[in-house]
Amino acid sequence: MSGNERKAPGSRAEREKSVDEIYERIYVAILEHRLHPGTKLGEERLADIFGVSRARVREVLARLAHEQIVELVPQRGAYVAKPTIEQARDVFEARRLIEPAVLRRLVDTLTPEKVTRLRQHVELEADARRRGDKRAVIRMSGEFHTLAAELAGNSSLARTMRELCMLTCLIIFLYDAPTAQSCRDDEHQMIIDAVAKRDRGRAEKLMLEHLDHIESSLSLDDGNGEADLEAIFRA
Ligand SMILES: [Zn+2]
Repeated sequence: MSGNERKAPGSRAEREKSVDEIYERIYVAILEHRLHPGTKLGEERLADIFGVSRARVREVLARLAHEQIVELVPQRGAYVAKPTIEQARDVFEARRLIEPAVLRRLVDTLTPEKVTRLRQHVELEADARRRGDKRAVIRMSGEFHTLAAELAGNSSLARTMRELCMLTCLIIFLYDAPTAQSCRDDEHQMIIDAVAKRDRGRAEKLMLEHLDHIESSLSLDDGNGEADLEAIFRA
């Protein structure tokens, strides 16, 4: 799309934020729930904020759209995606298929360094919880899953996990029940313990339960008038 621009020589081009940097800034803002589903991402405003050309912003938005994180509406522009309930269910179905495979591969390729990386991440998550830093907790919970996929060493799986985690973040934002949590406090720890013991079966089982806990904490009823009145009034 704007391949020419990327190659443009000169100091201005070097000072300018790269597509990767801008992508990362938007990615983190979504992960931290600072950027809400449905927010308009105006090309001109973003170009202004990041001090880059609109062409570069368009490139970032196209990449986010390709990953289903941004929706491009003809004549109207780009918006942070608002996954439907059906899409939300699809995301969890995909995660239930992929994440046990990620853990199997992780166990098969496990090194002490990988265990250390995962434990360090969980420590940081626990720190953020203790500080009550909700944004960091949400972001790091998602990143735990992406990190596991990266360490498993399959770049396609890692890429897919990254997208699914970002979509999950949007879904949690949209369908969060008042009591919902993204990832429960100690479950990542338990998953790592099983991985460290090379107990594939237990690691997979814990991951599936973990995903069930996230999905069931959301309000993903289909809004077809079949509200669970029992749950609403007997709570
Ligand atoms: Zn988790």
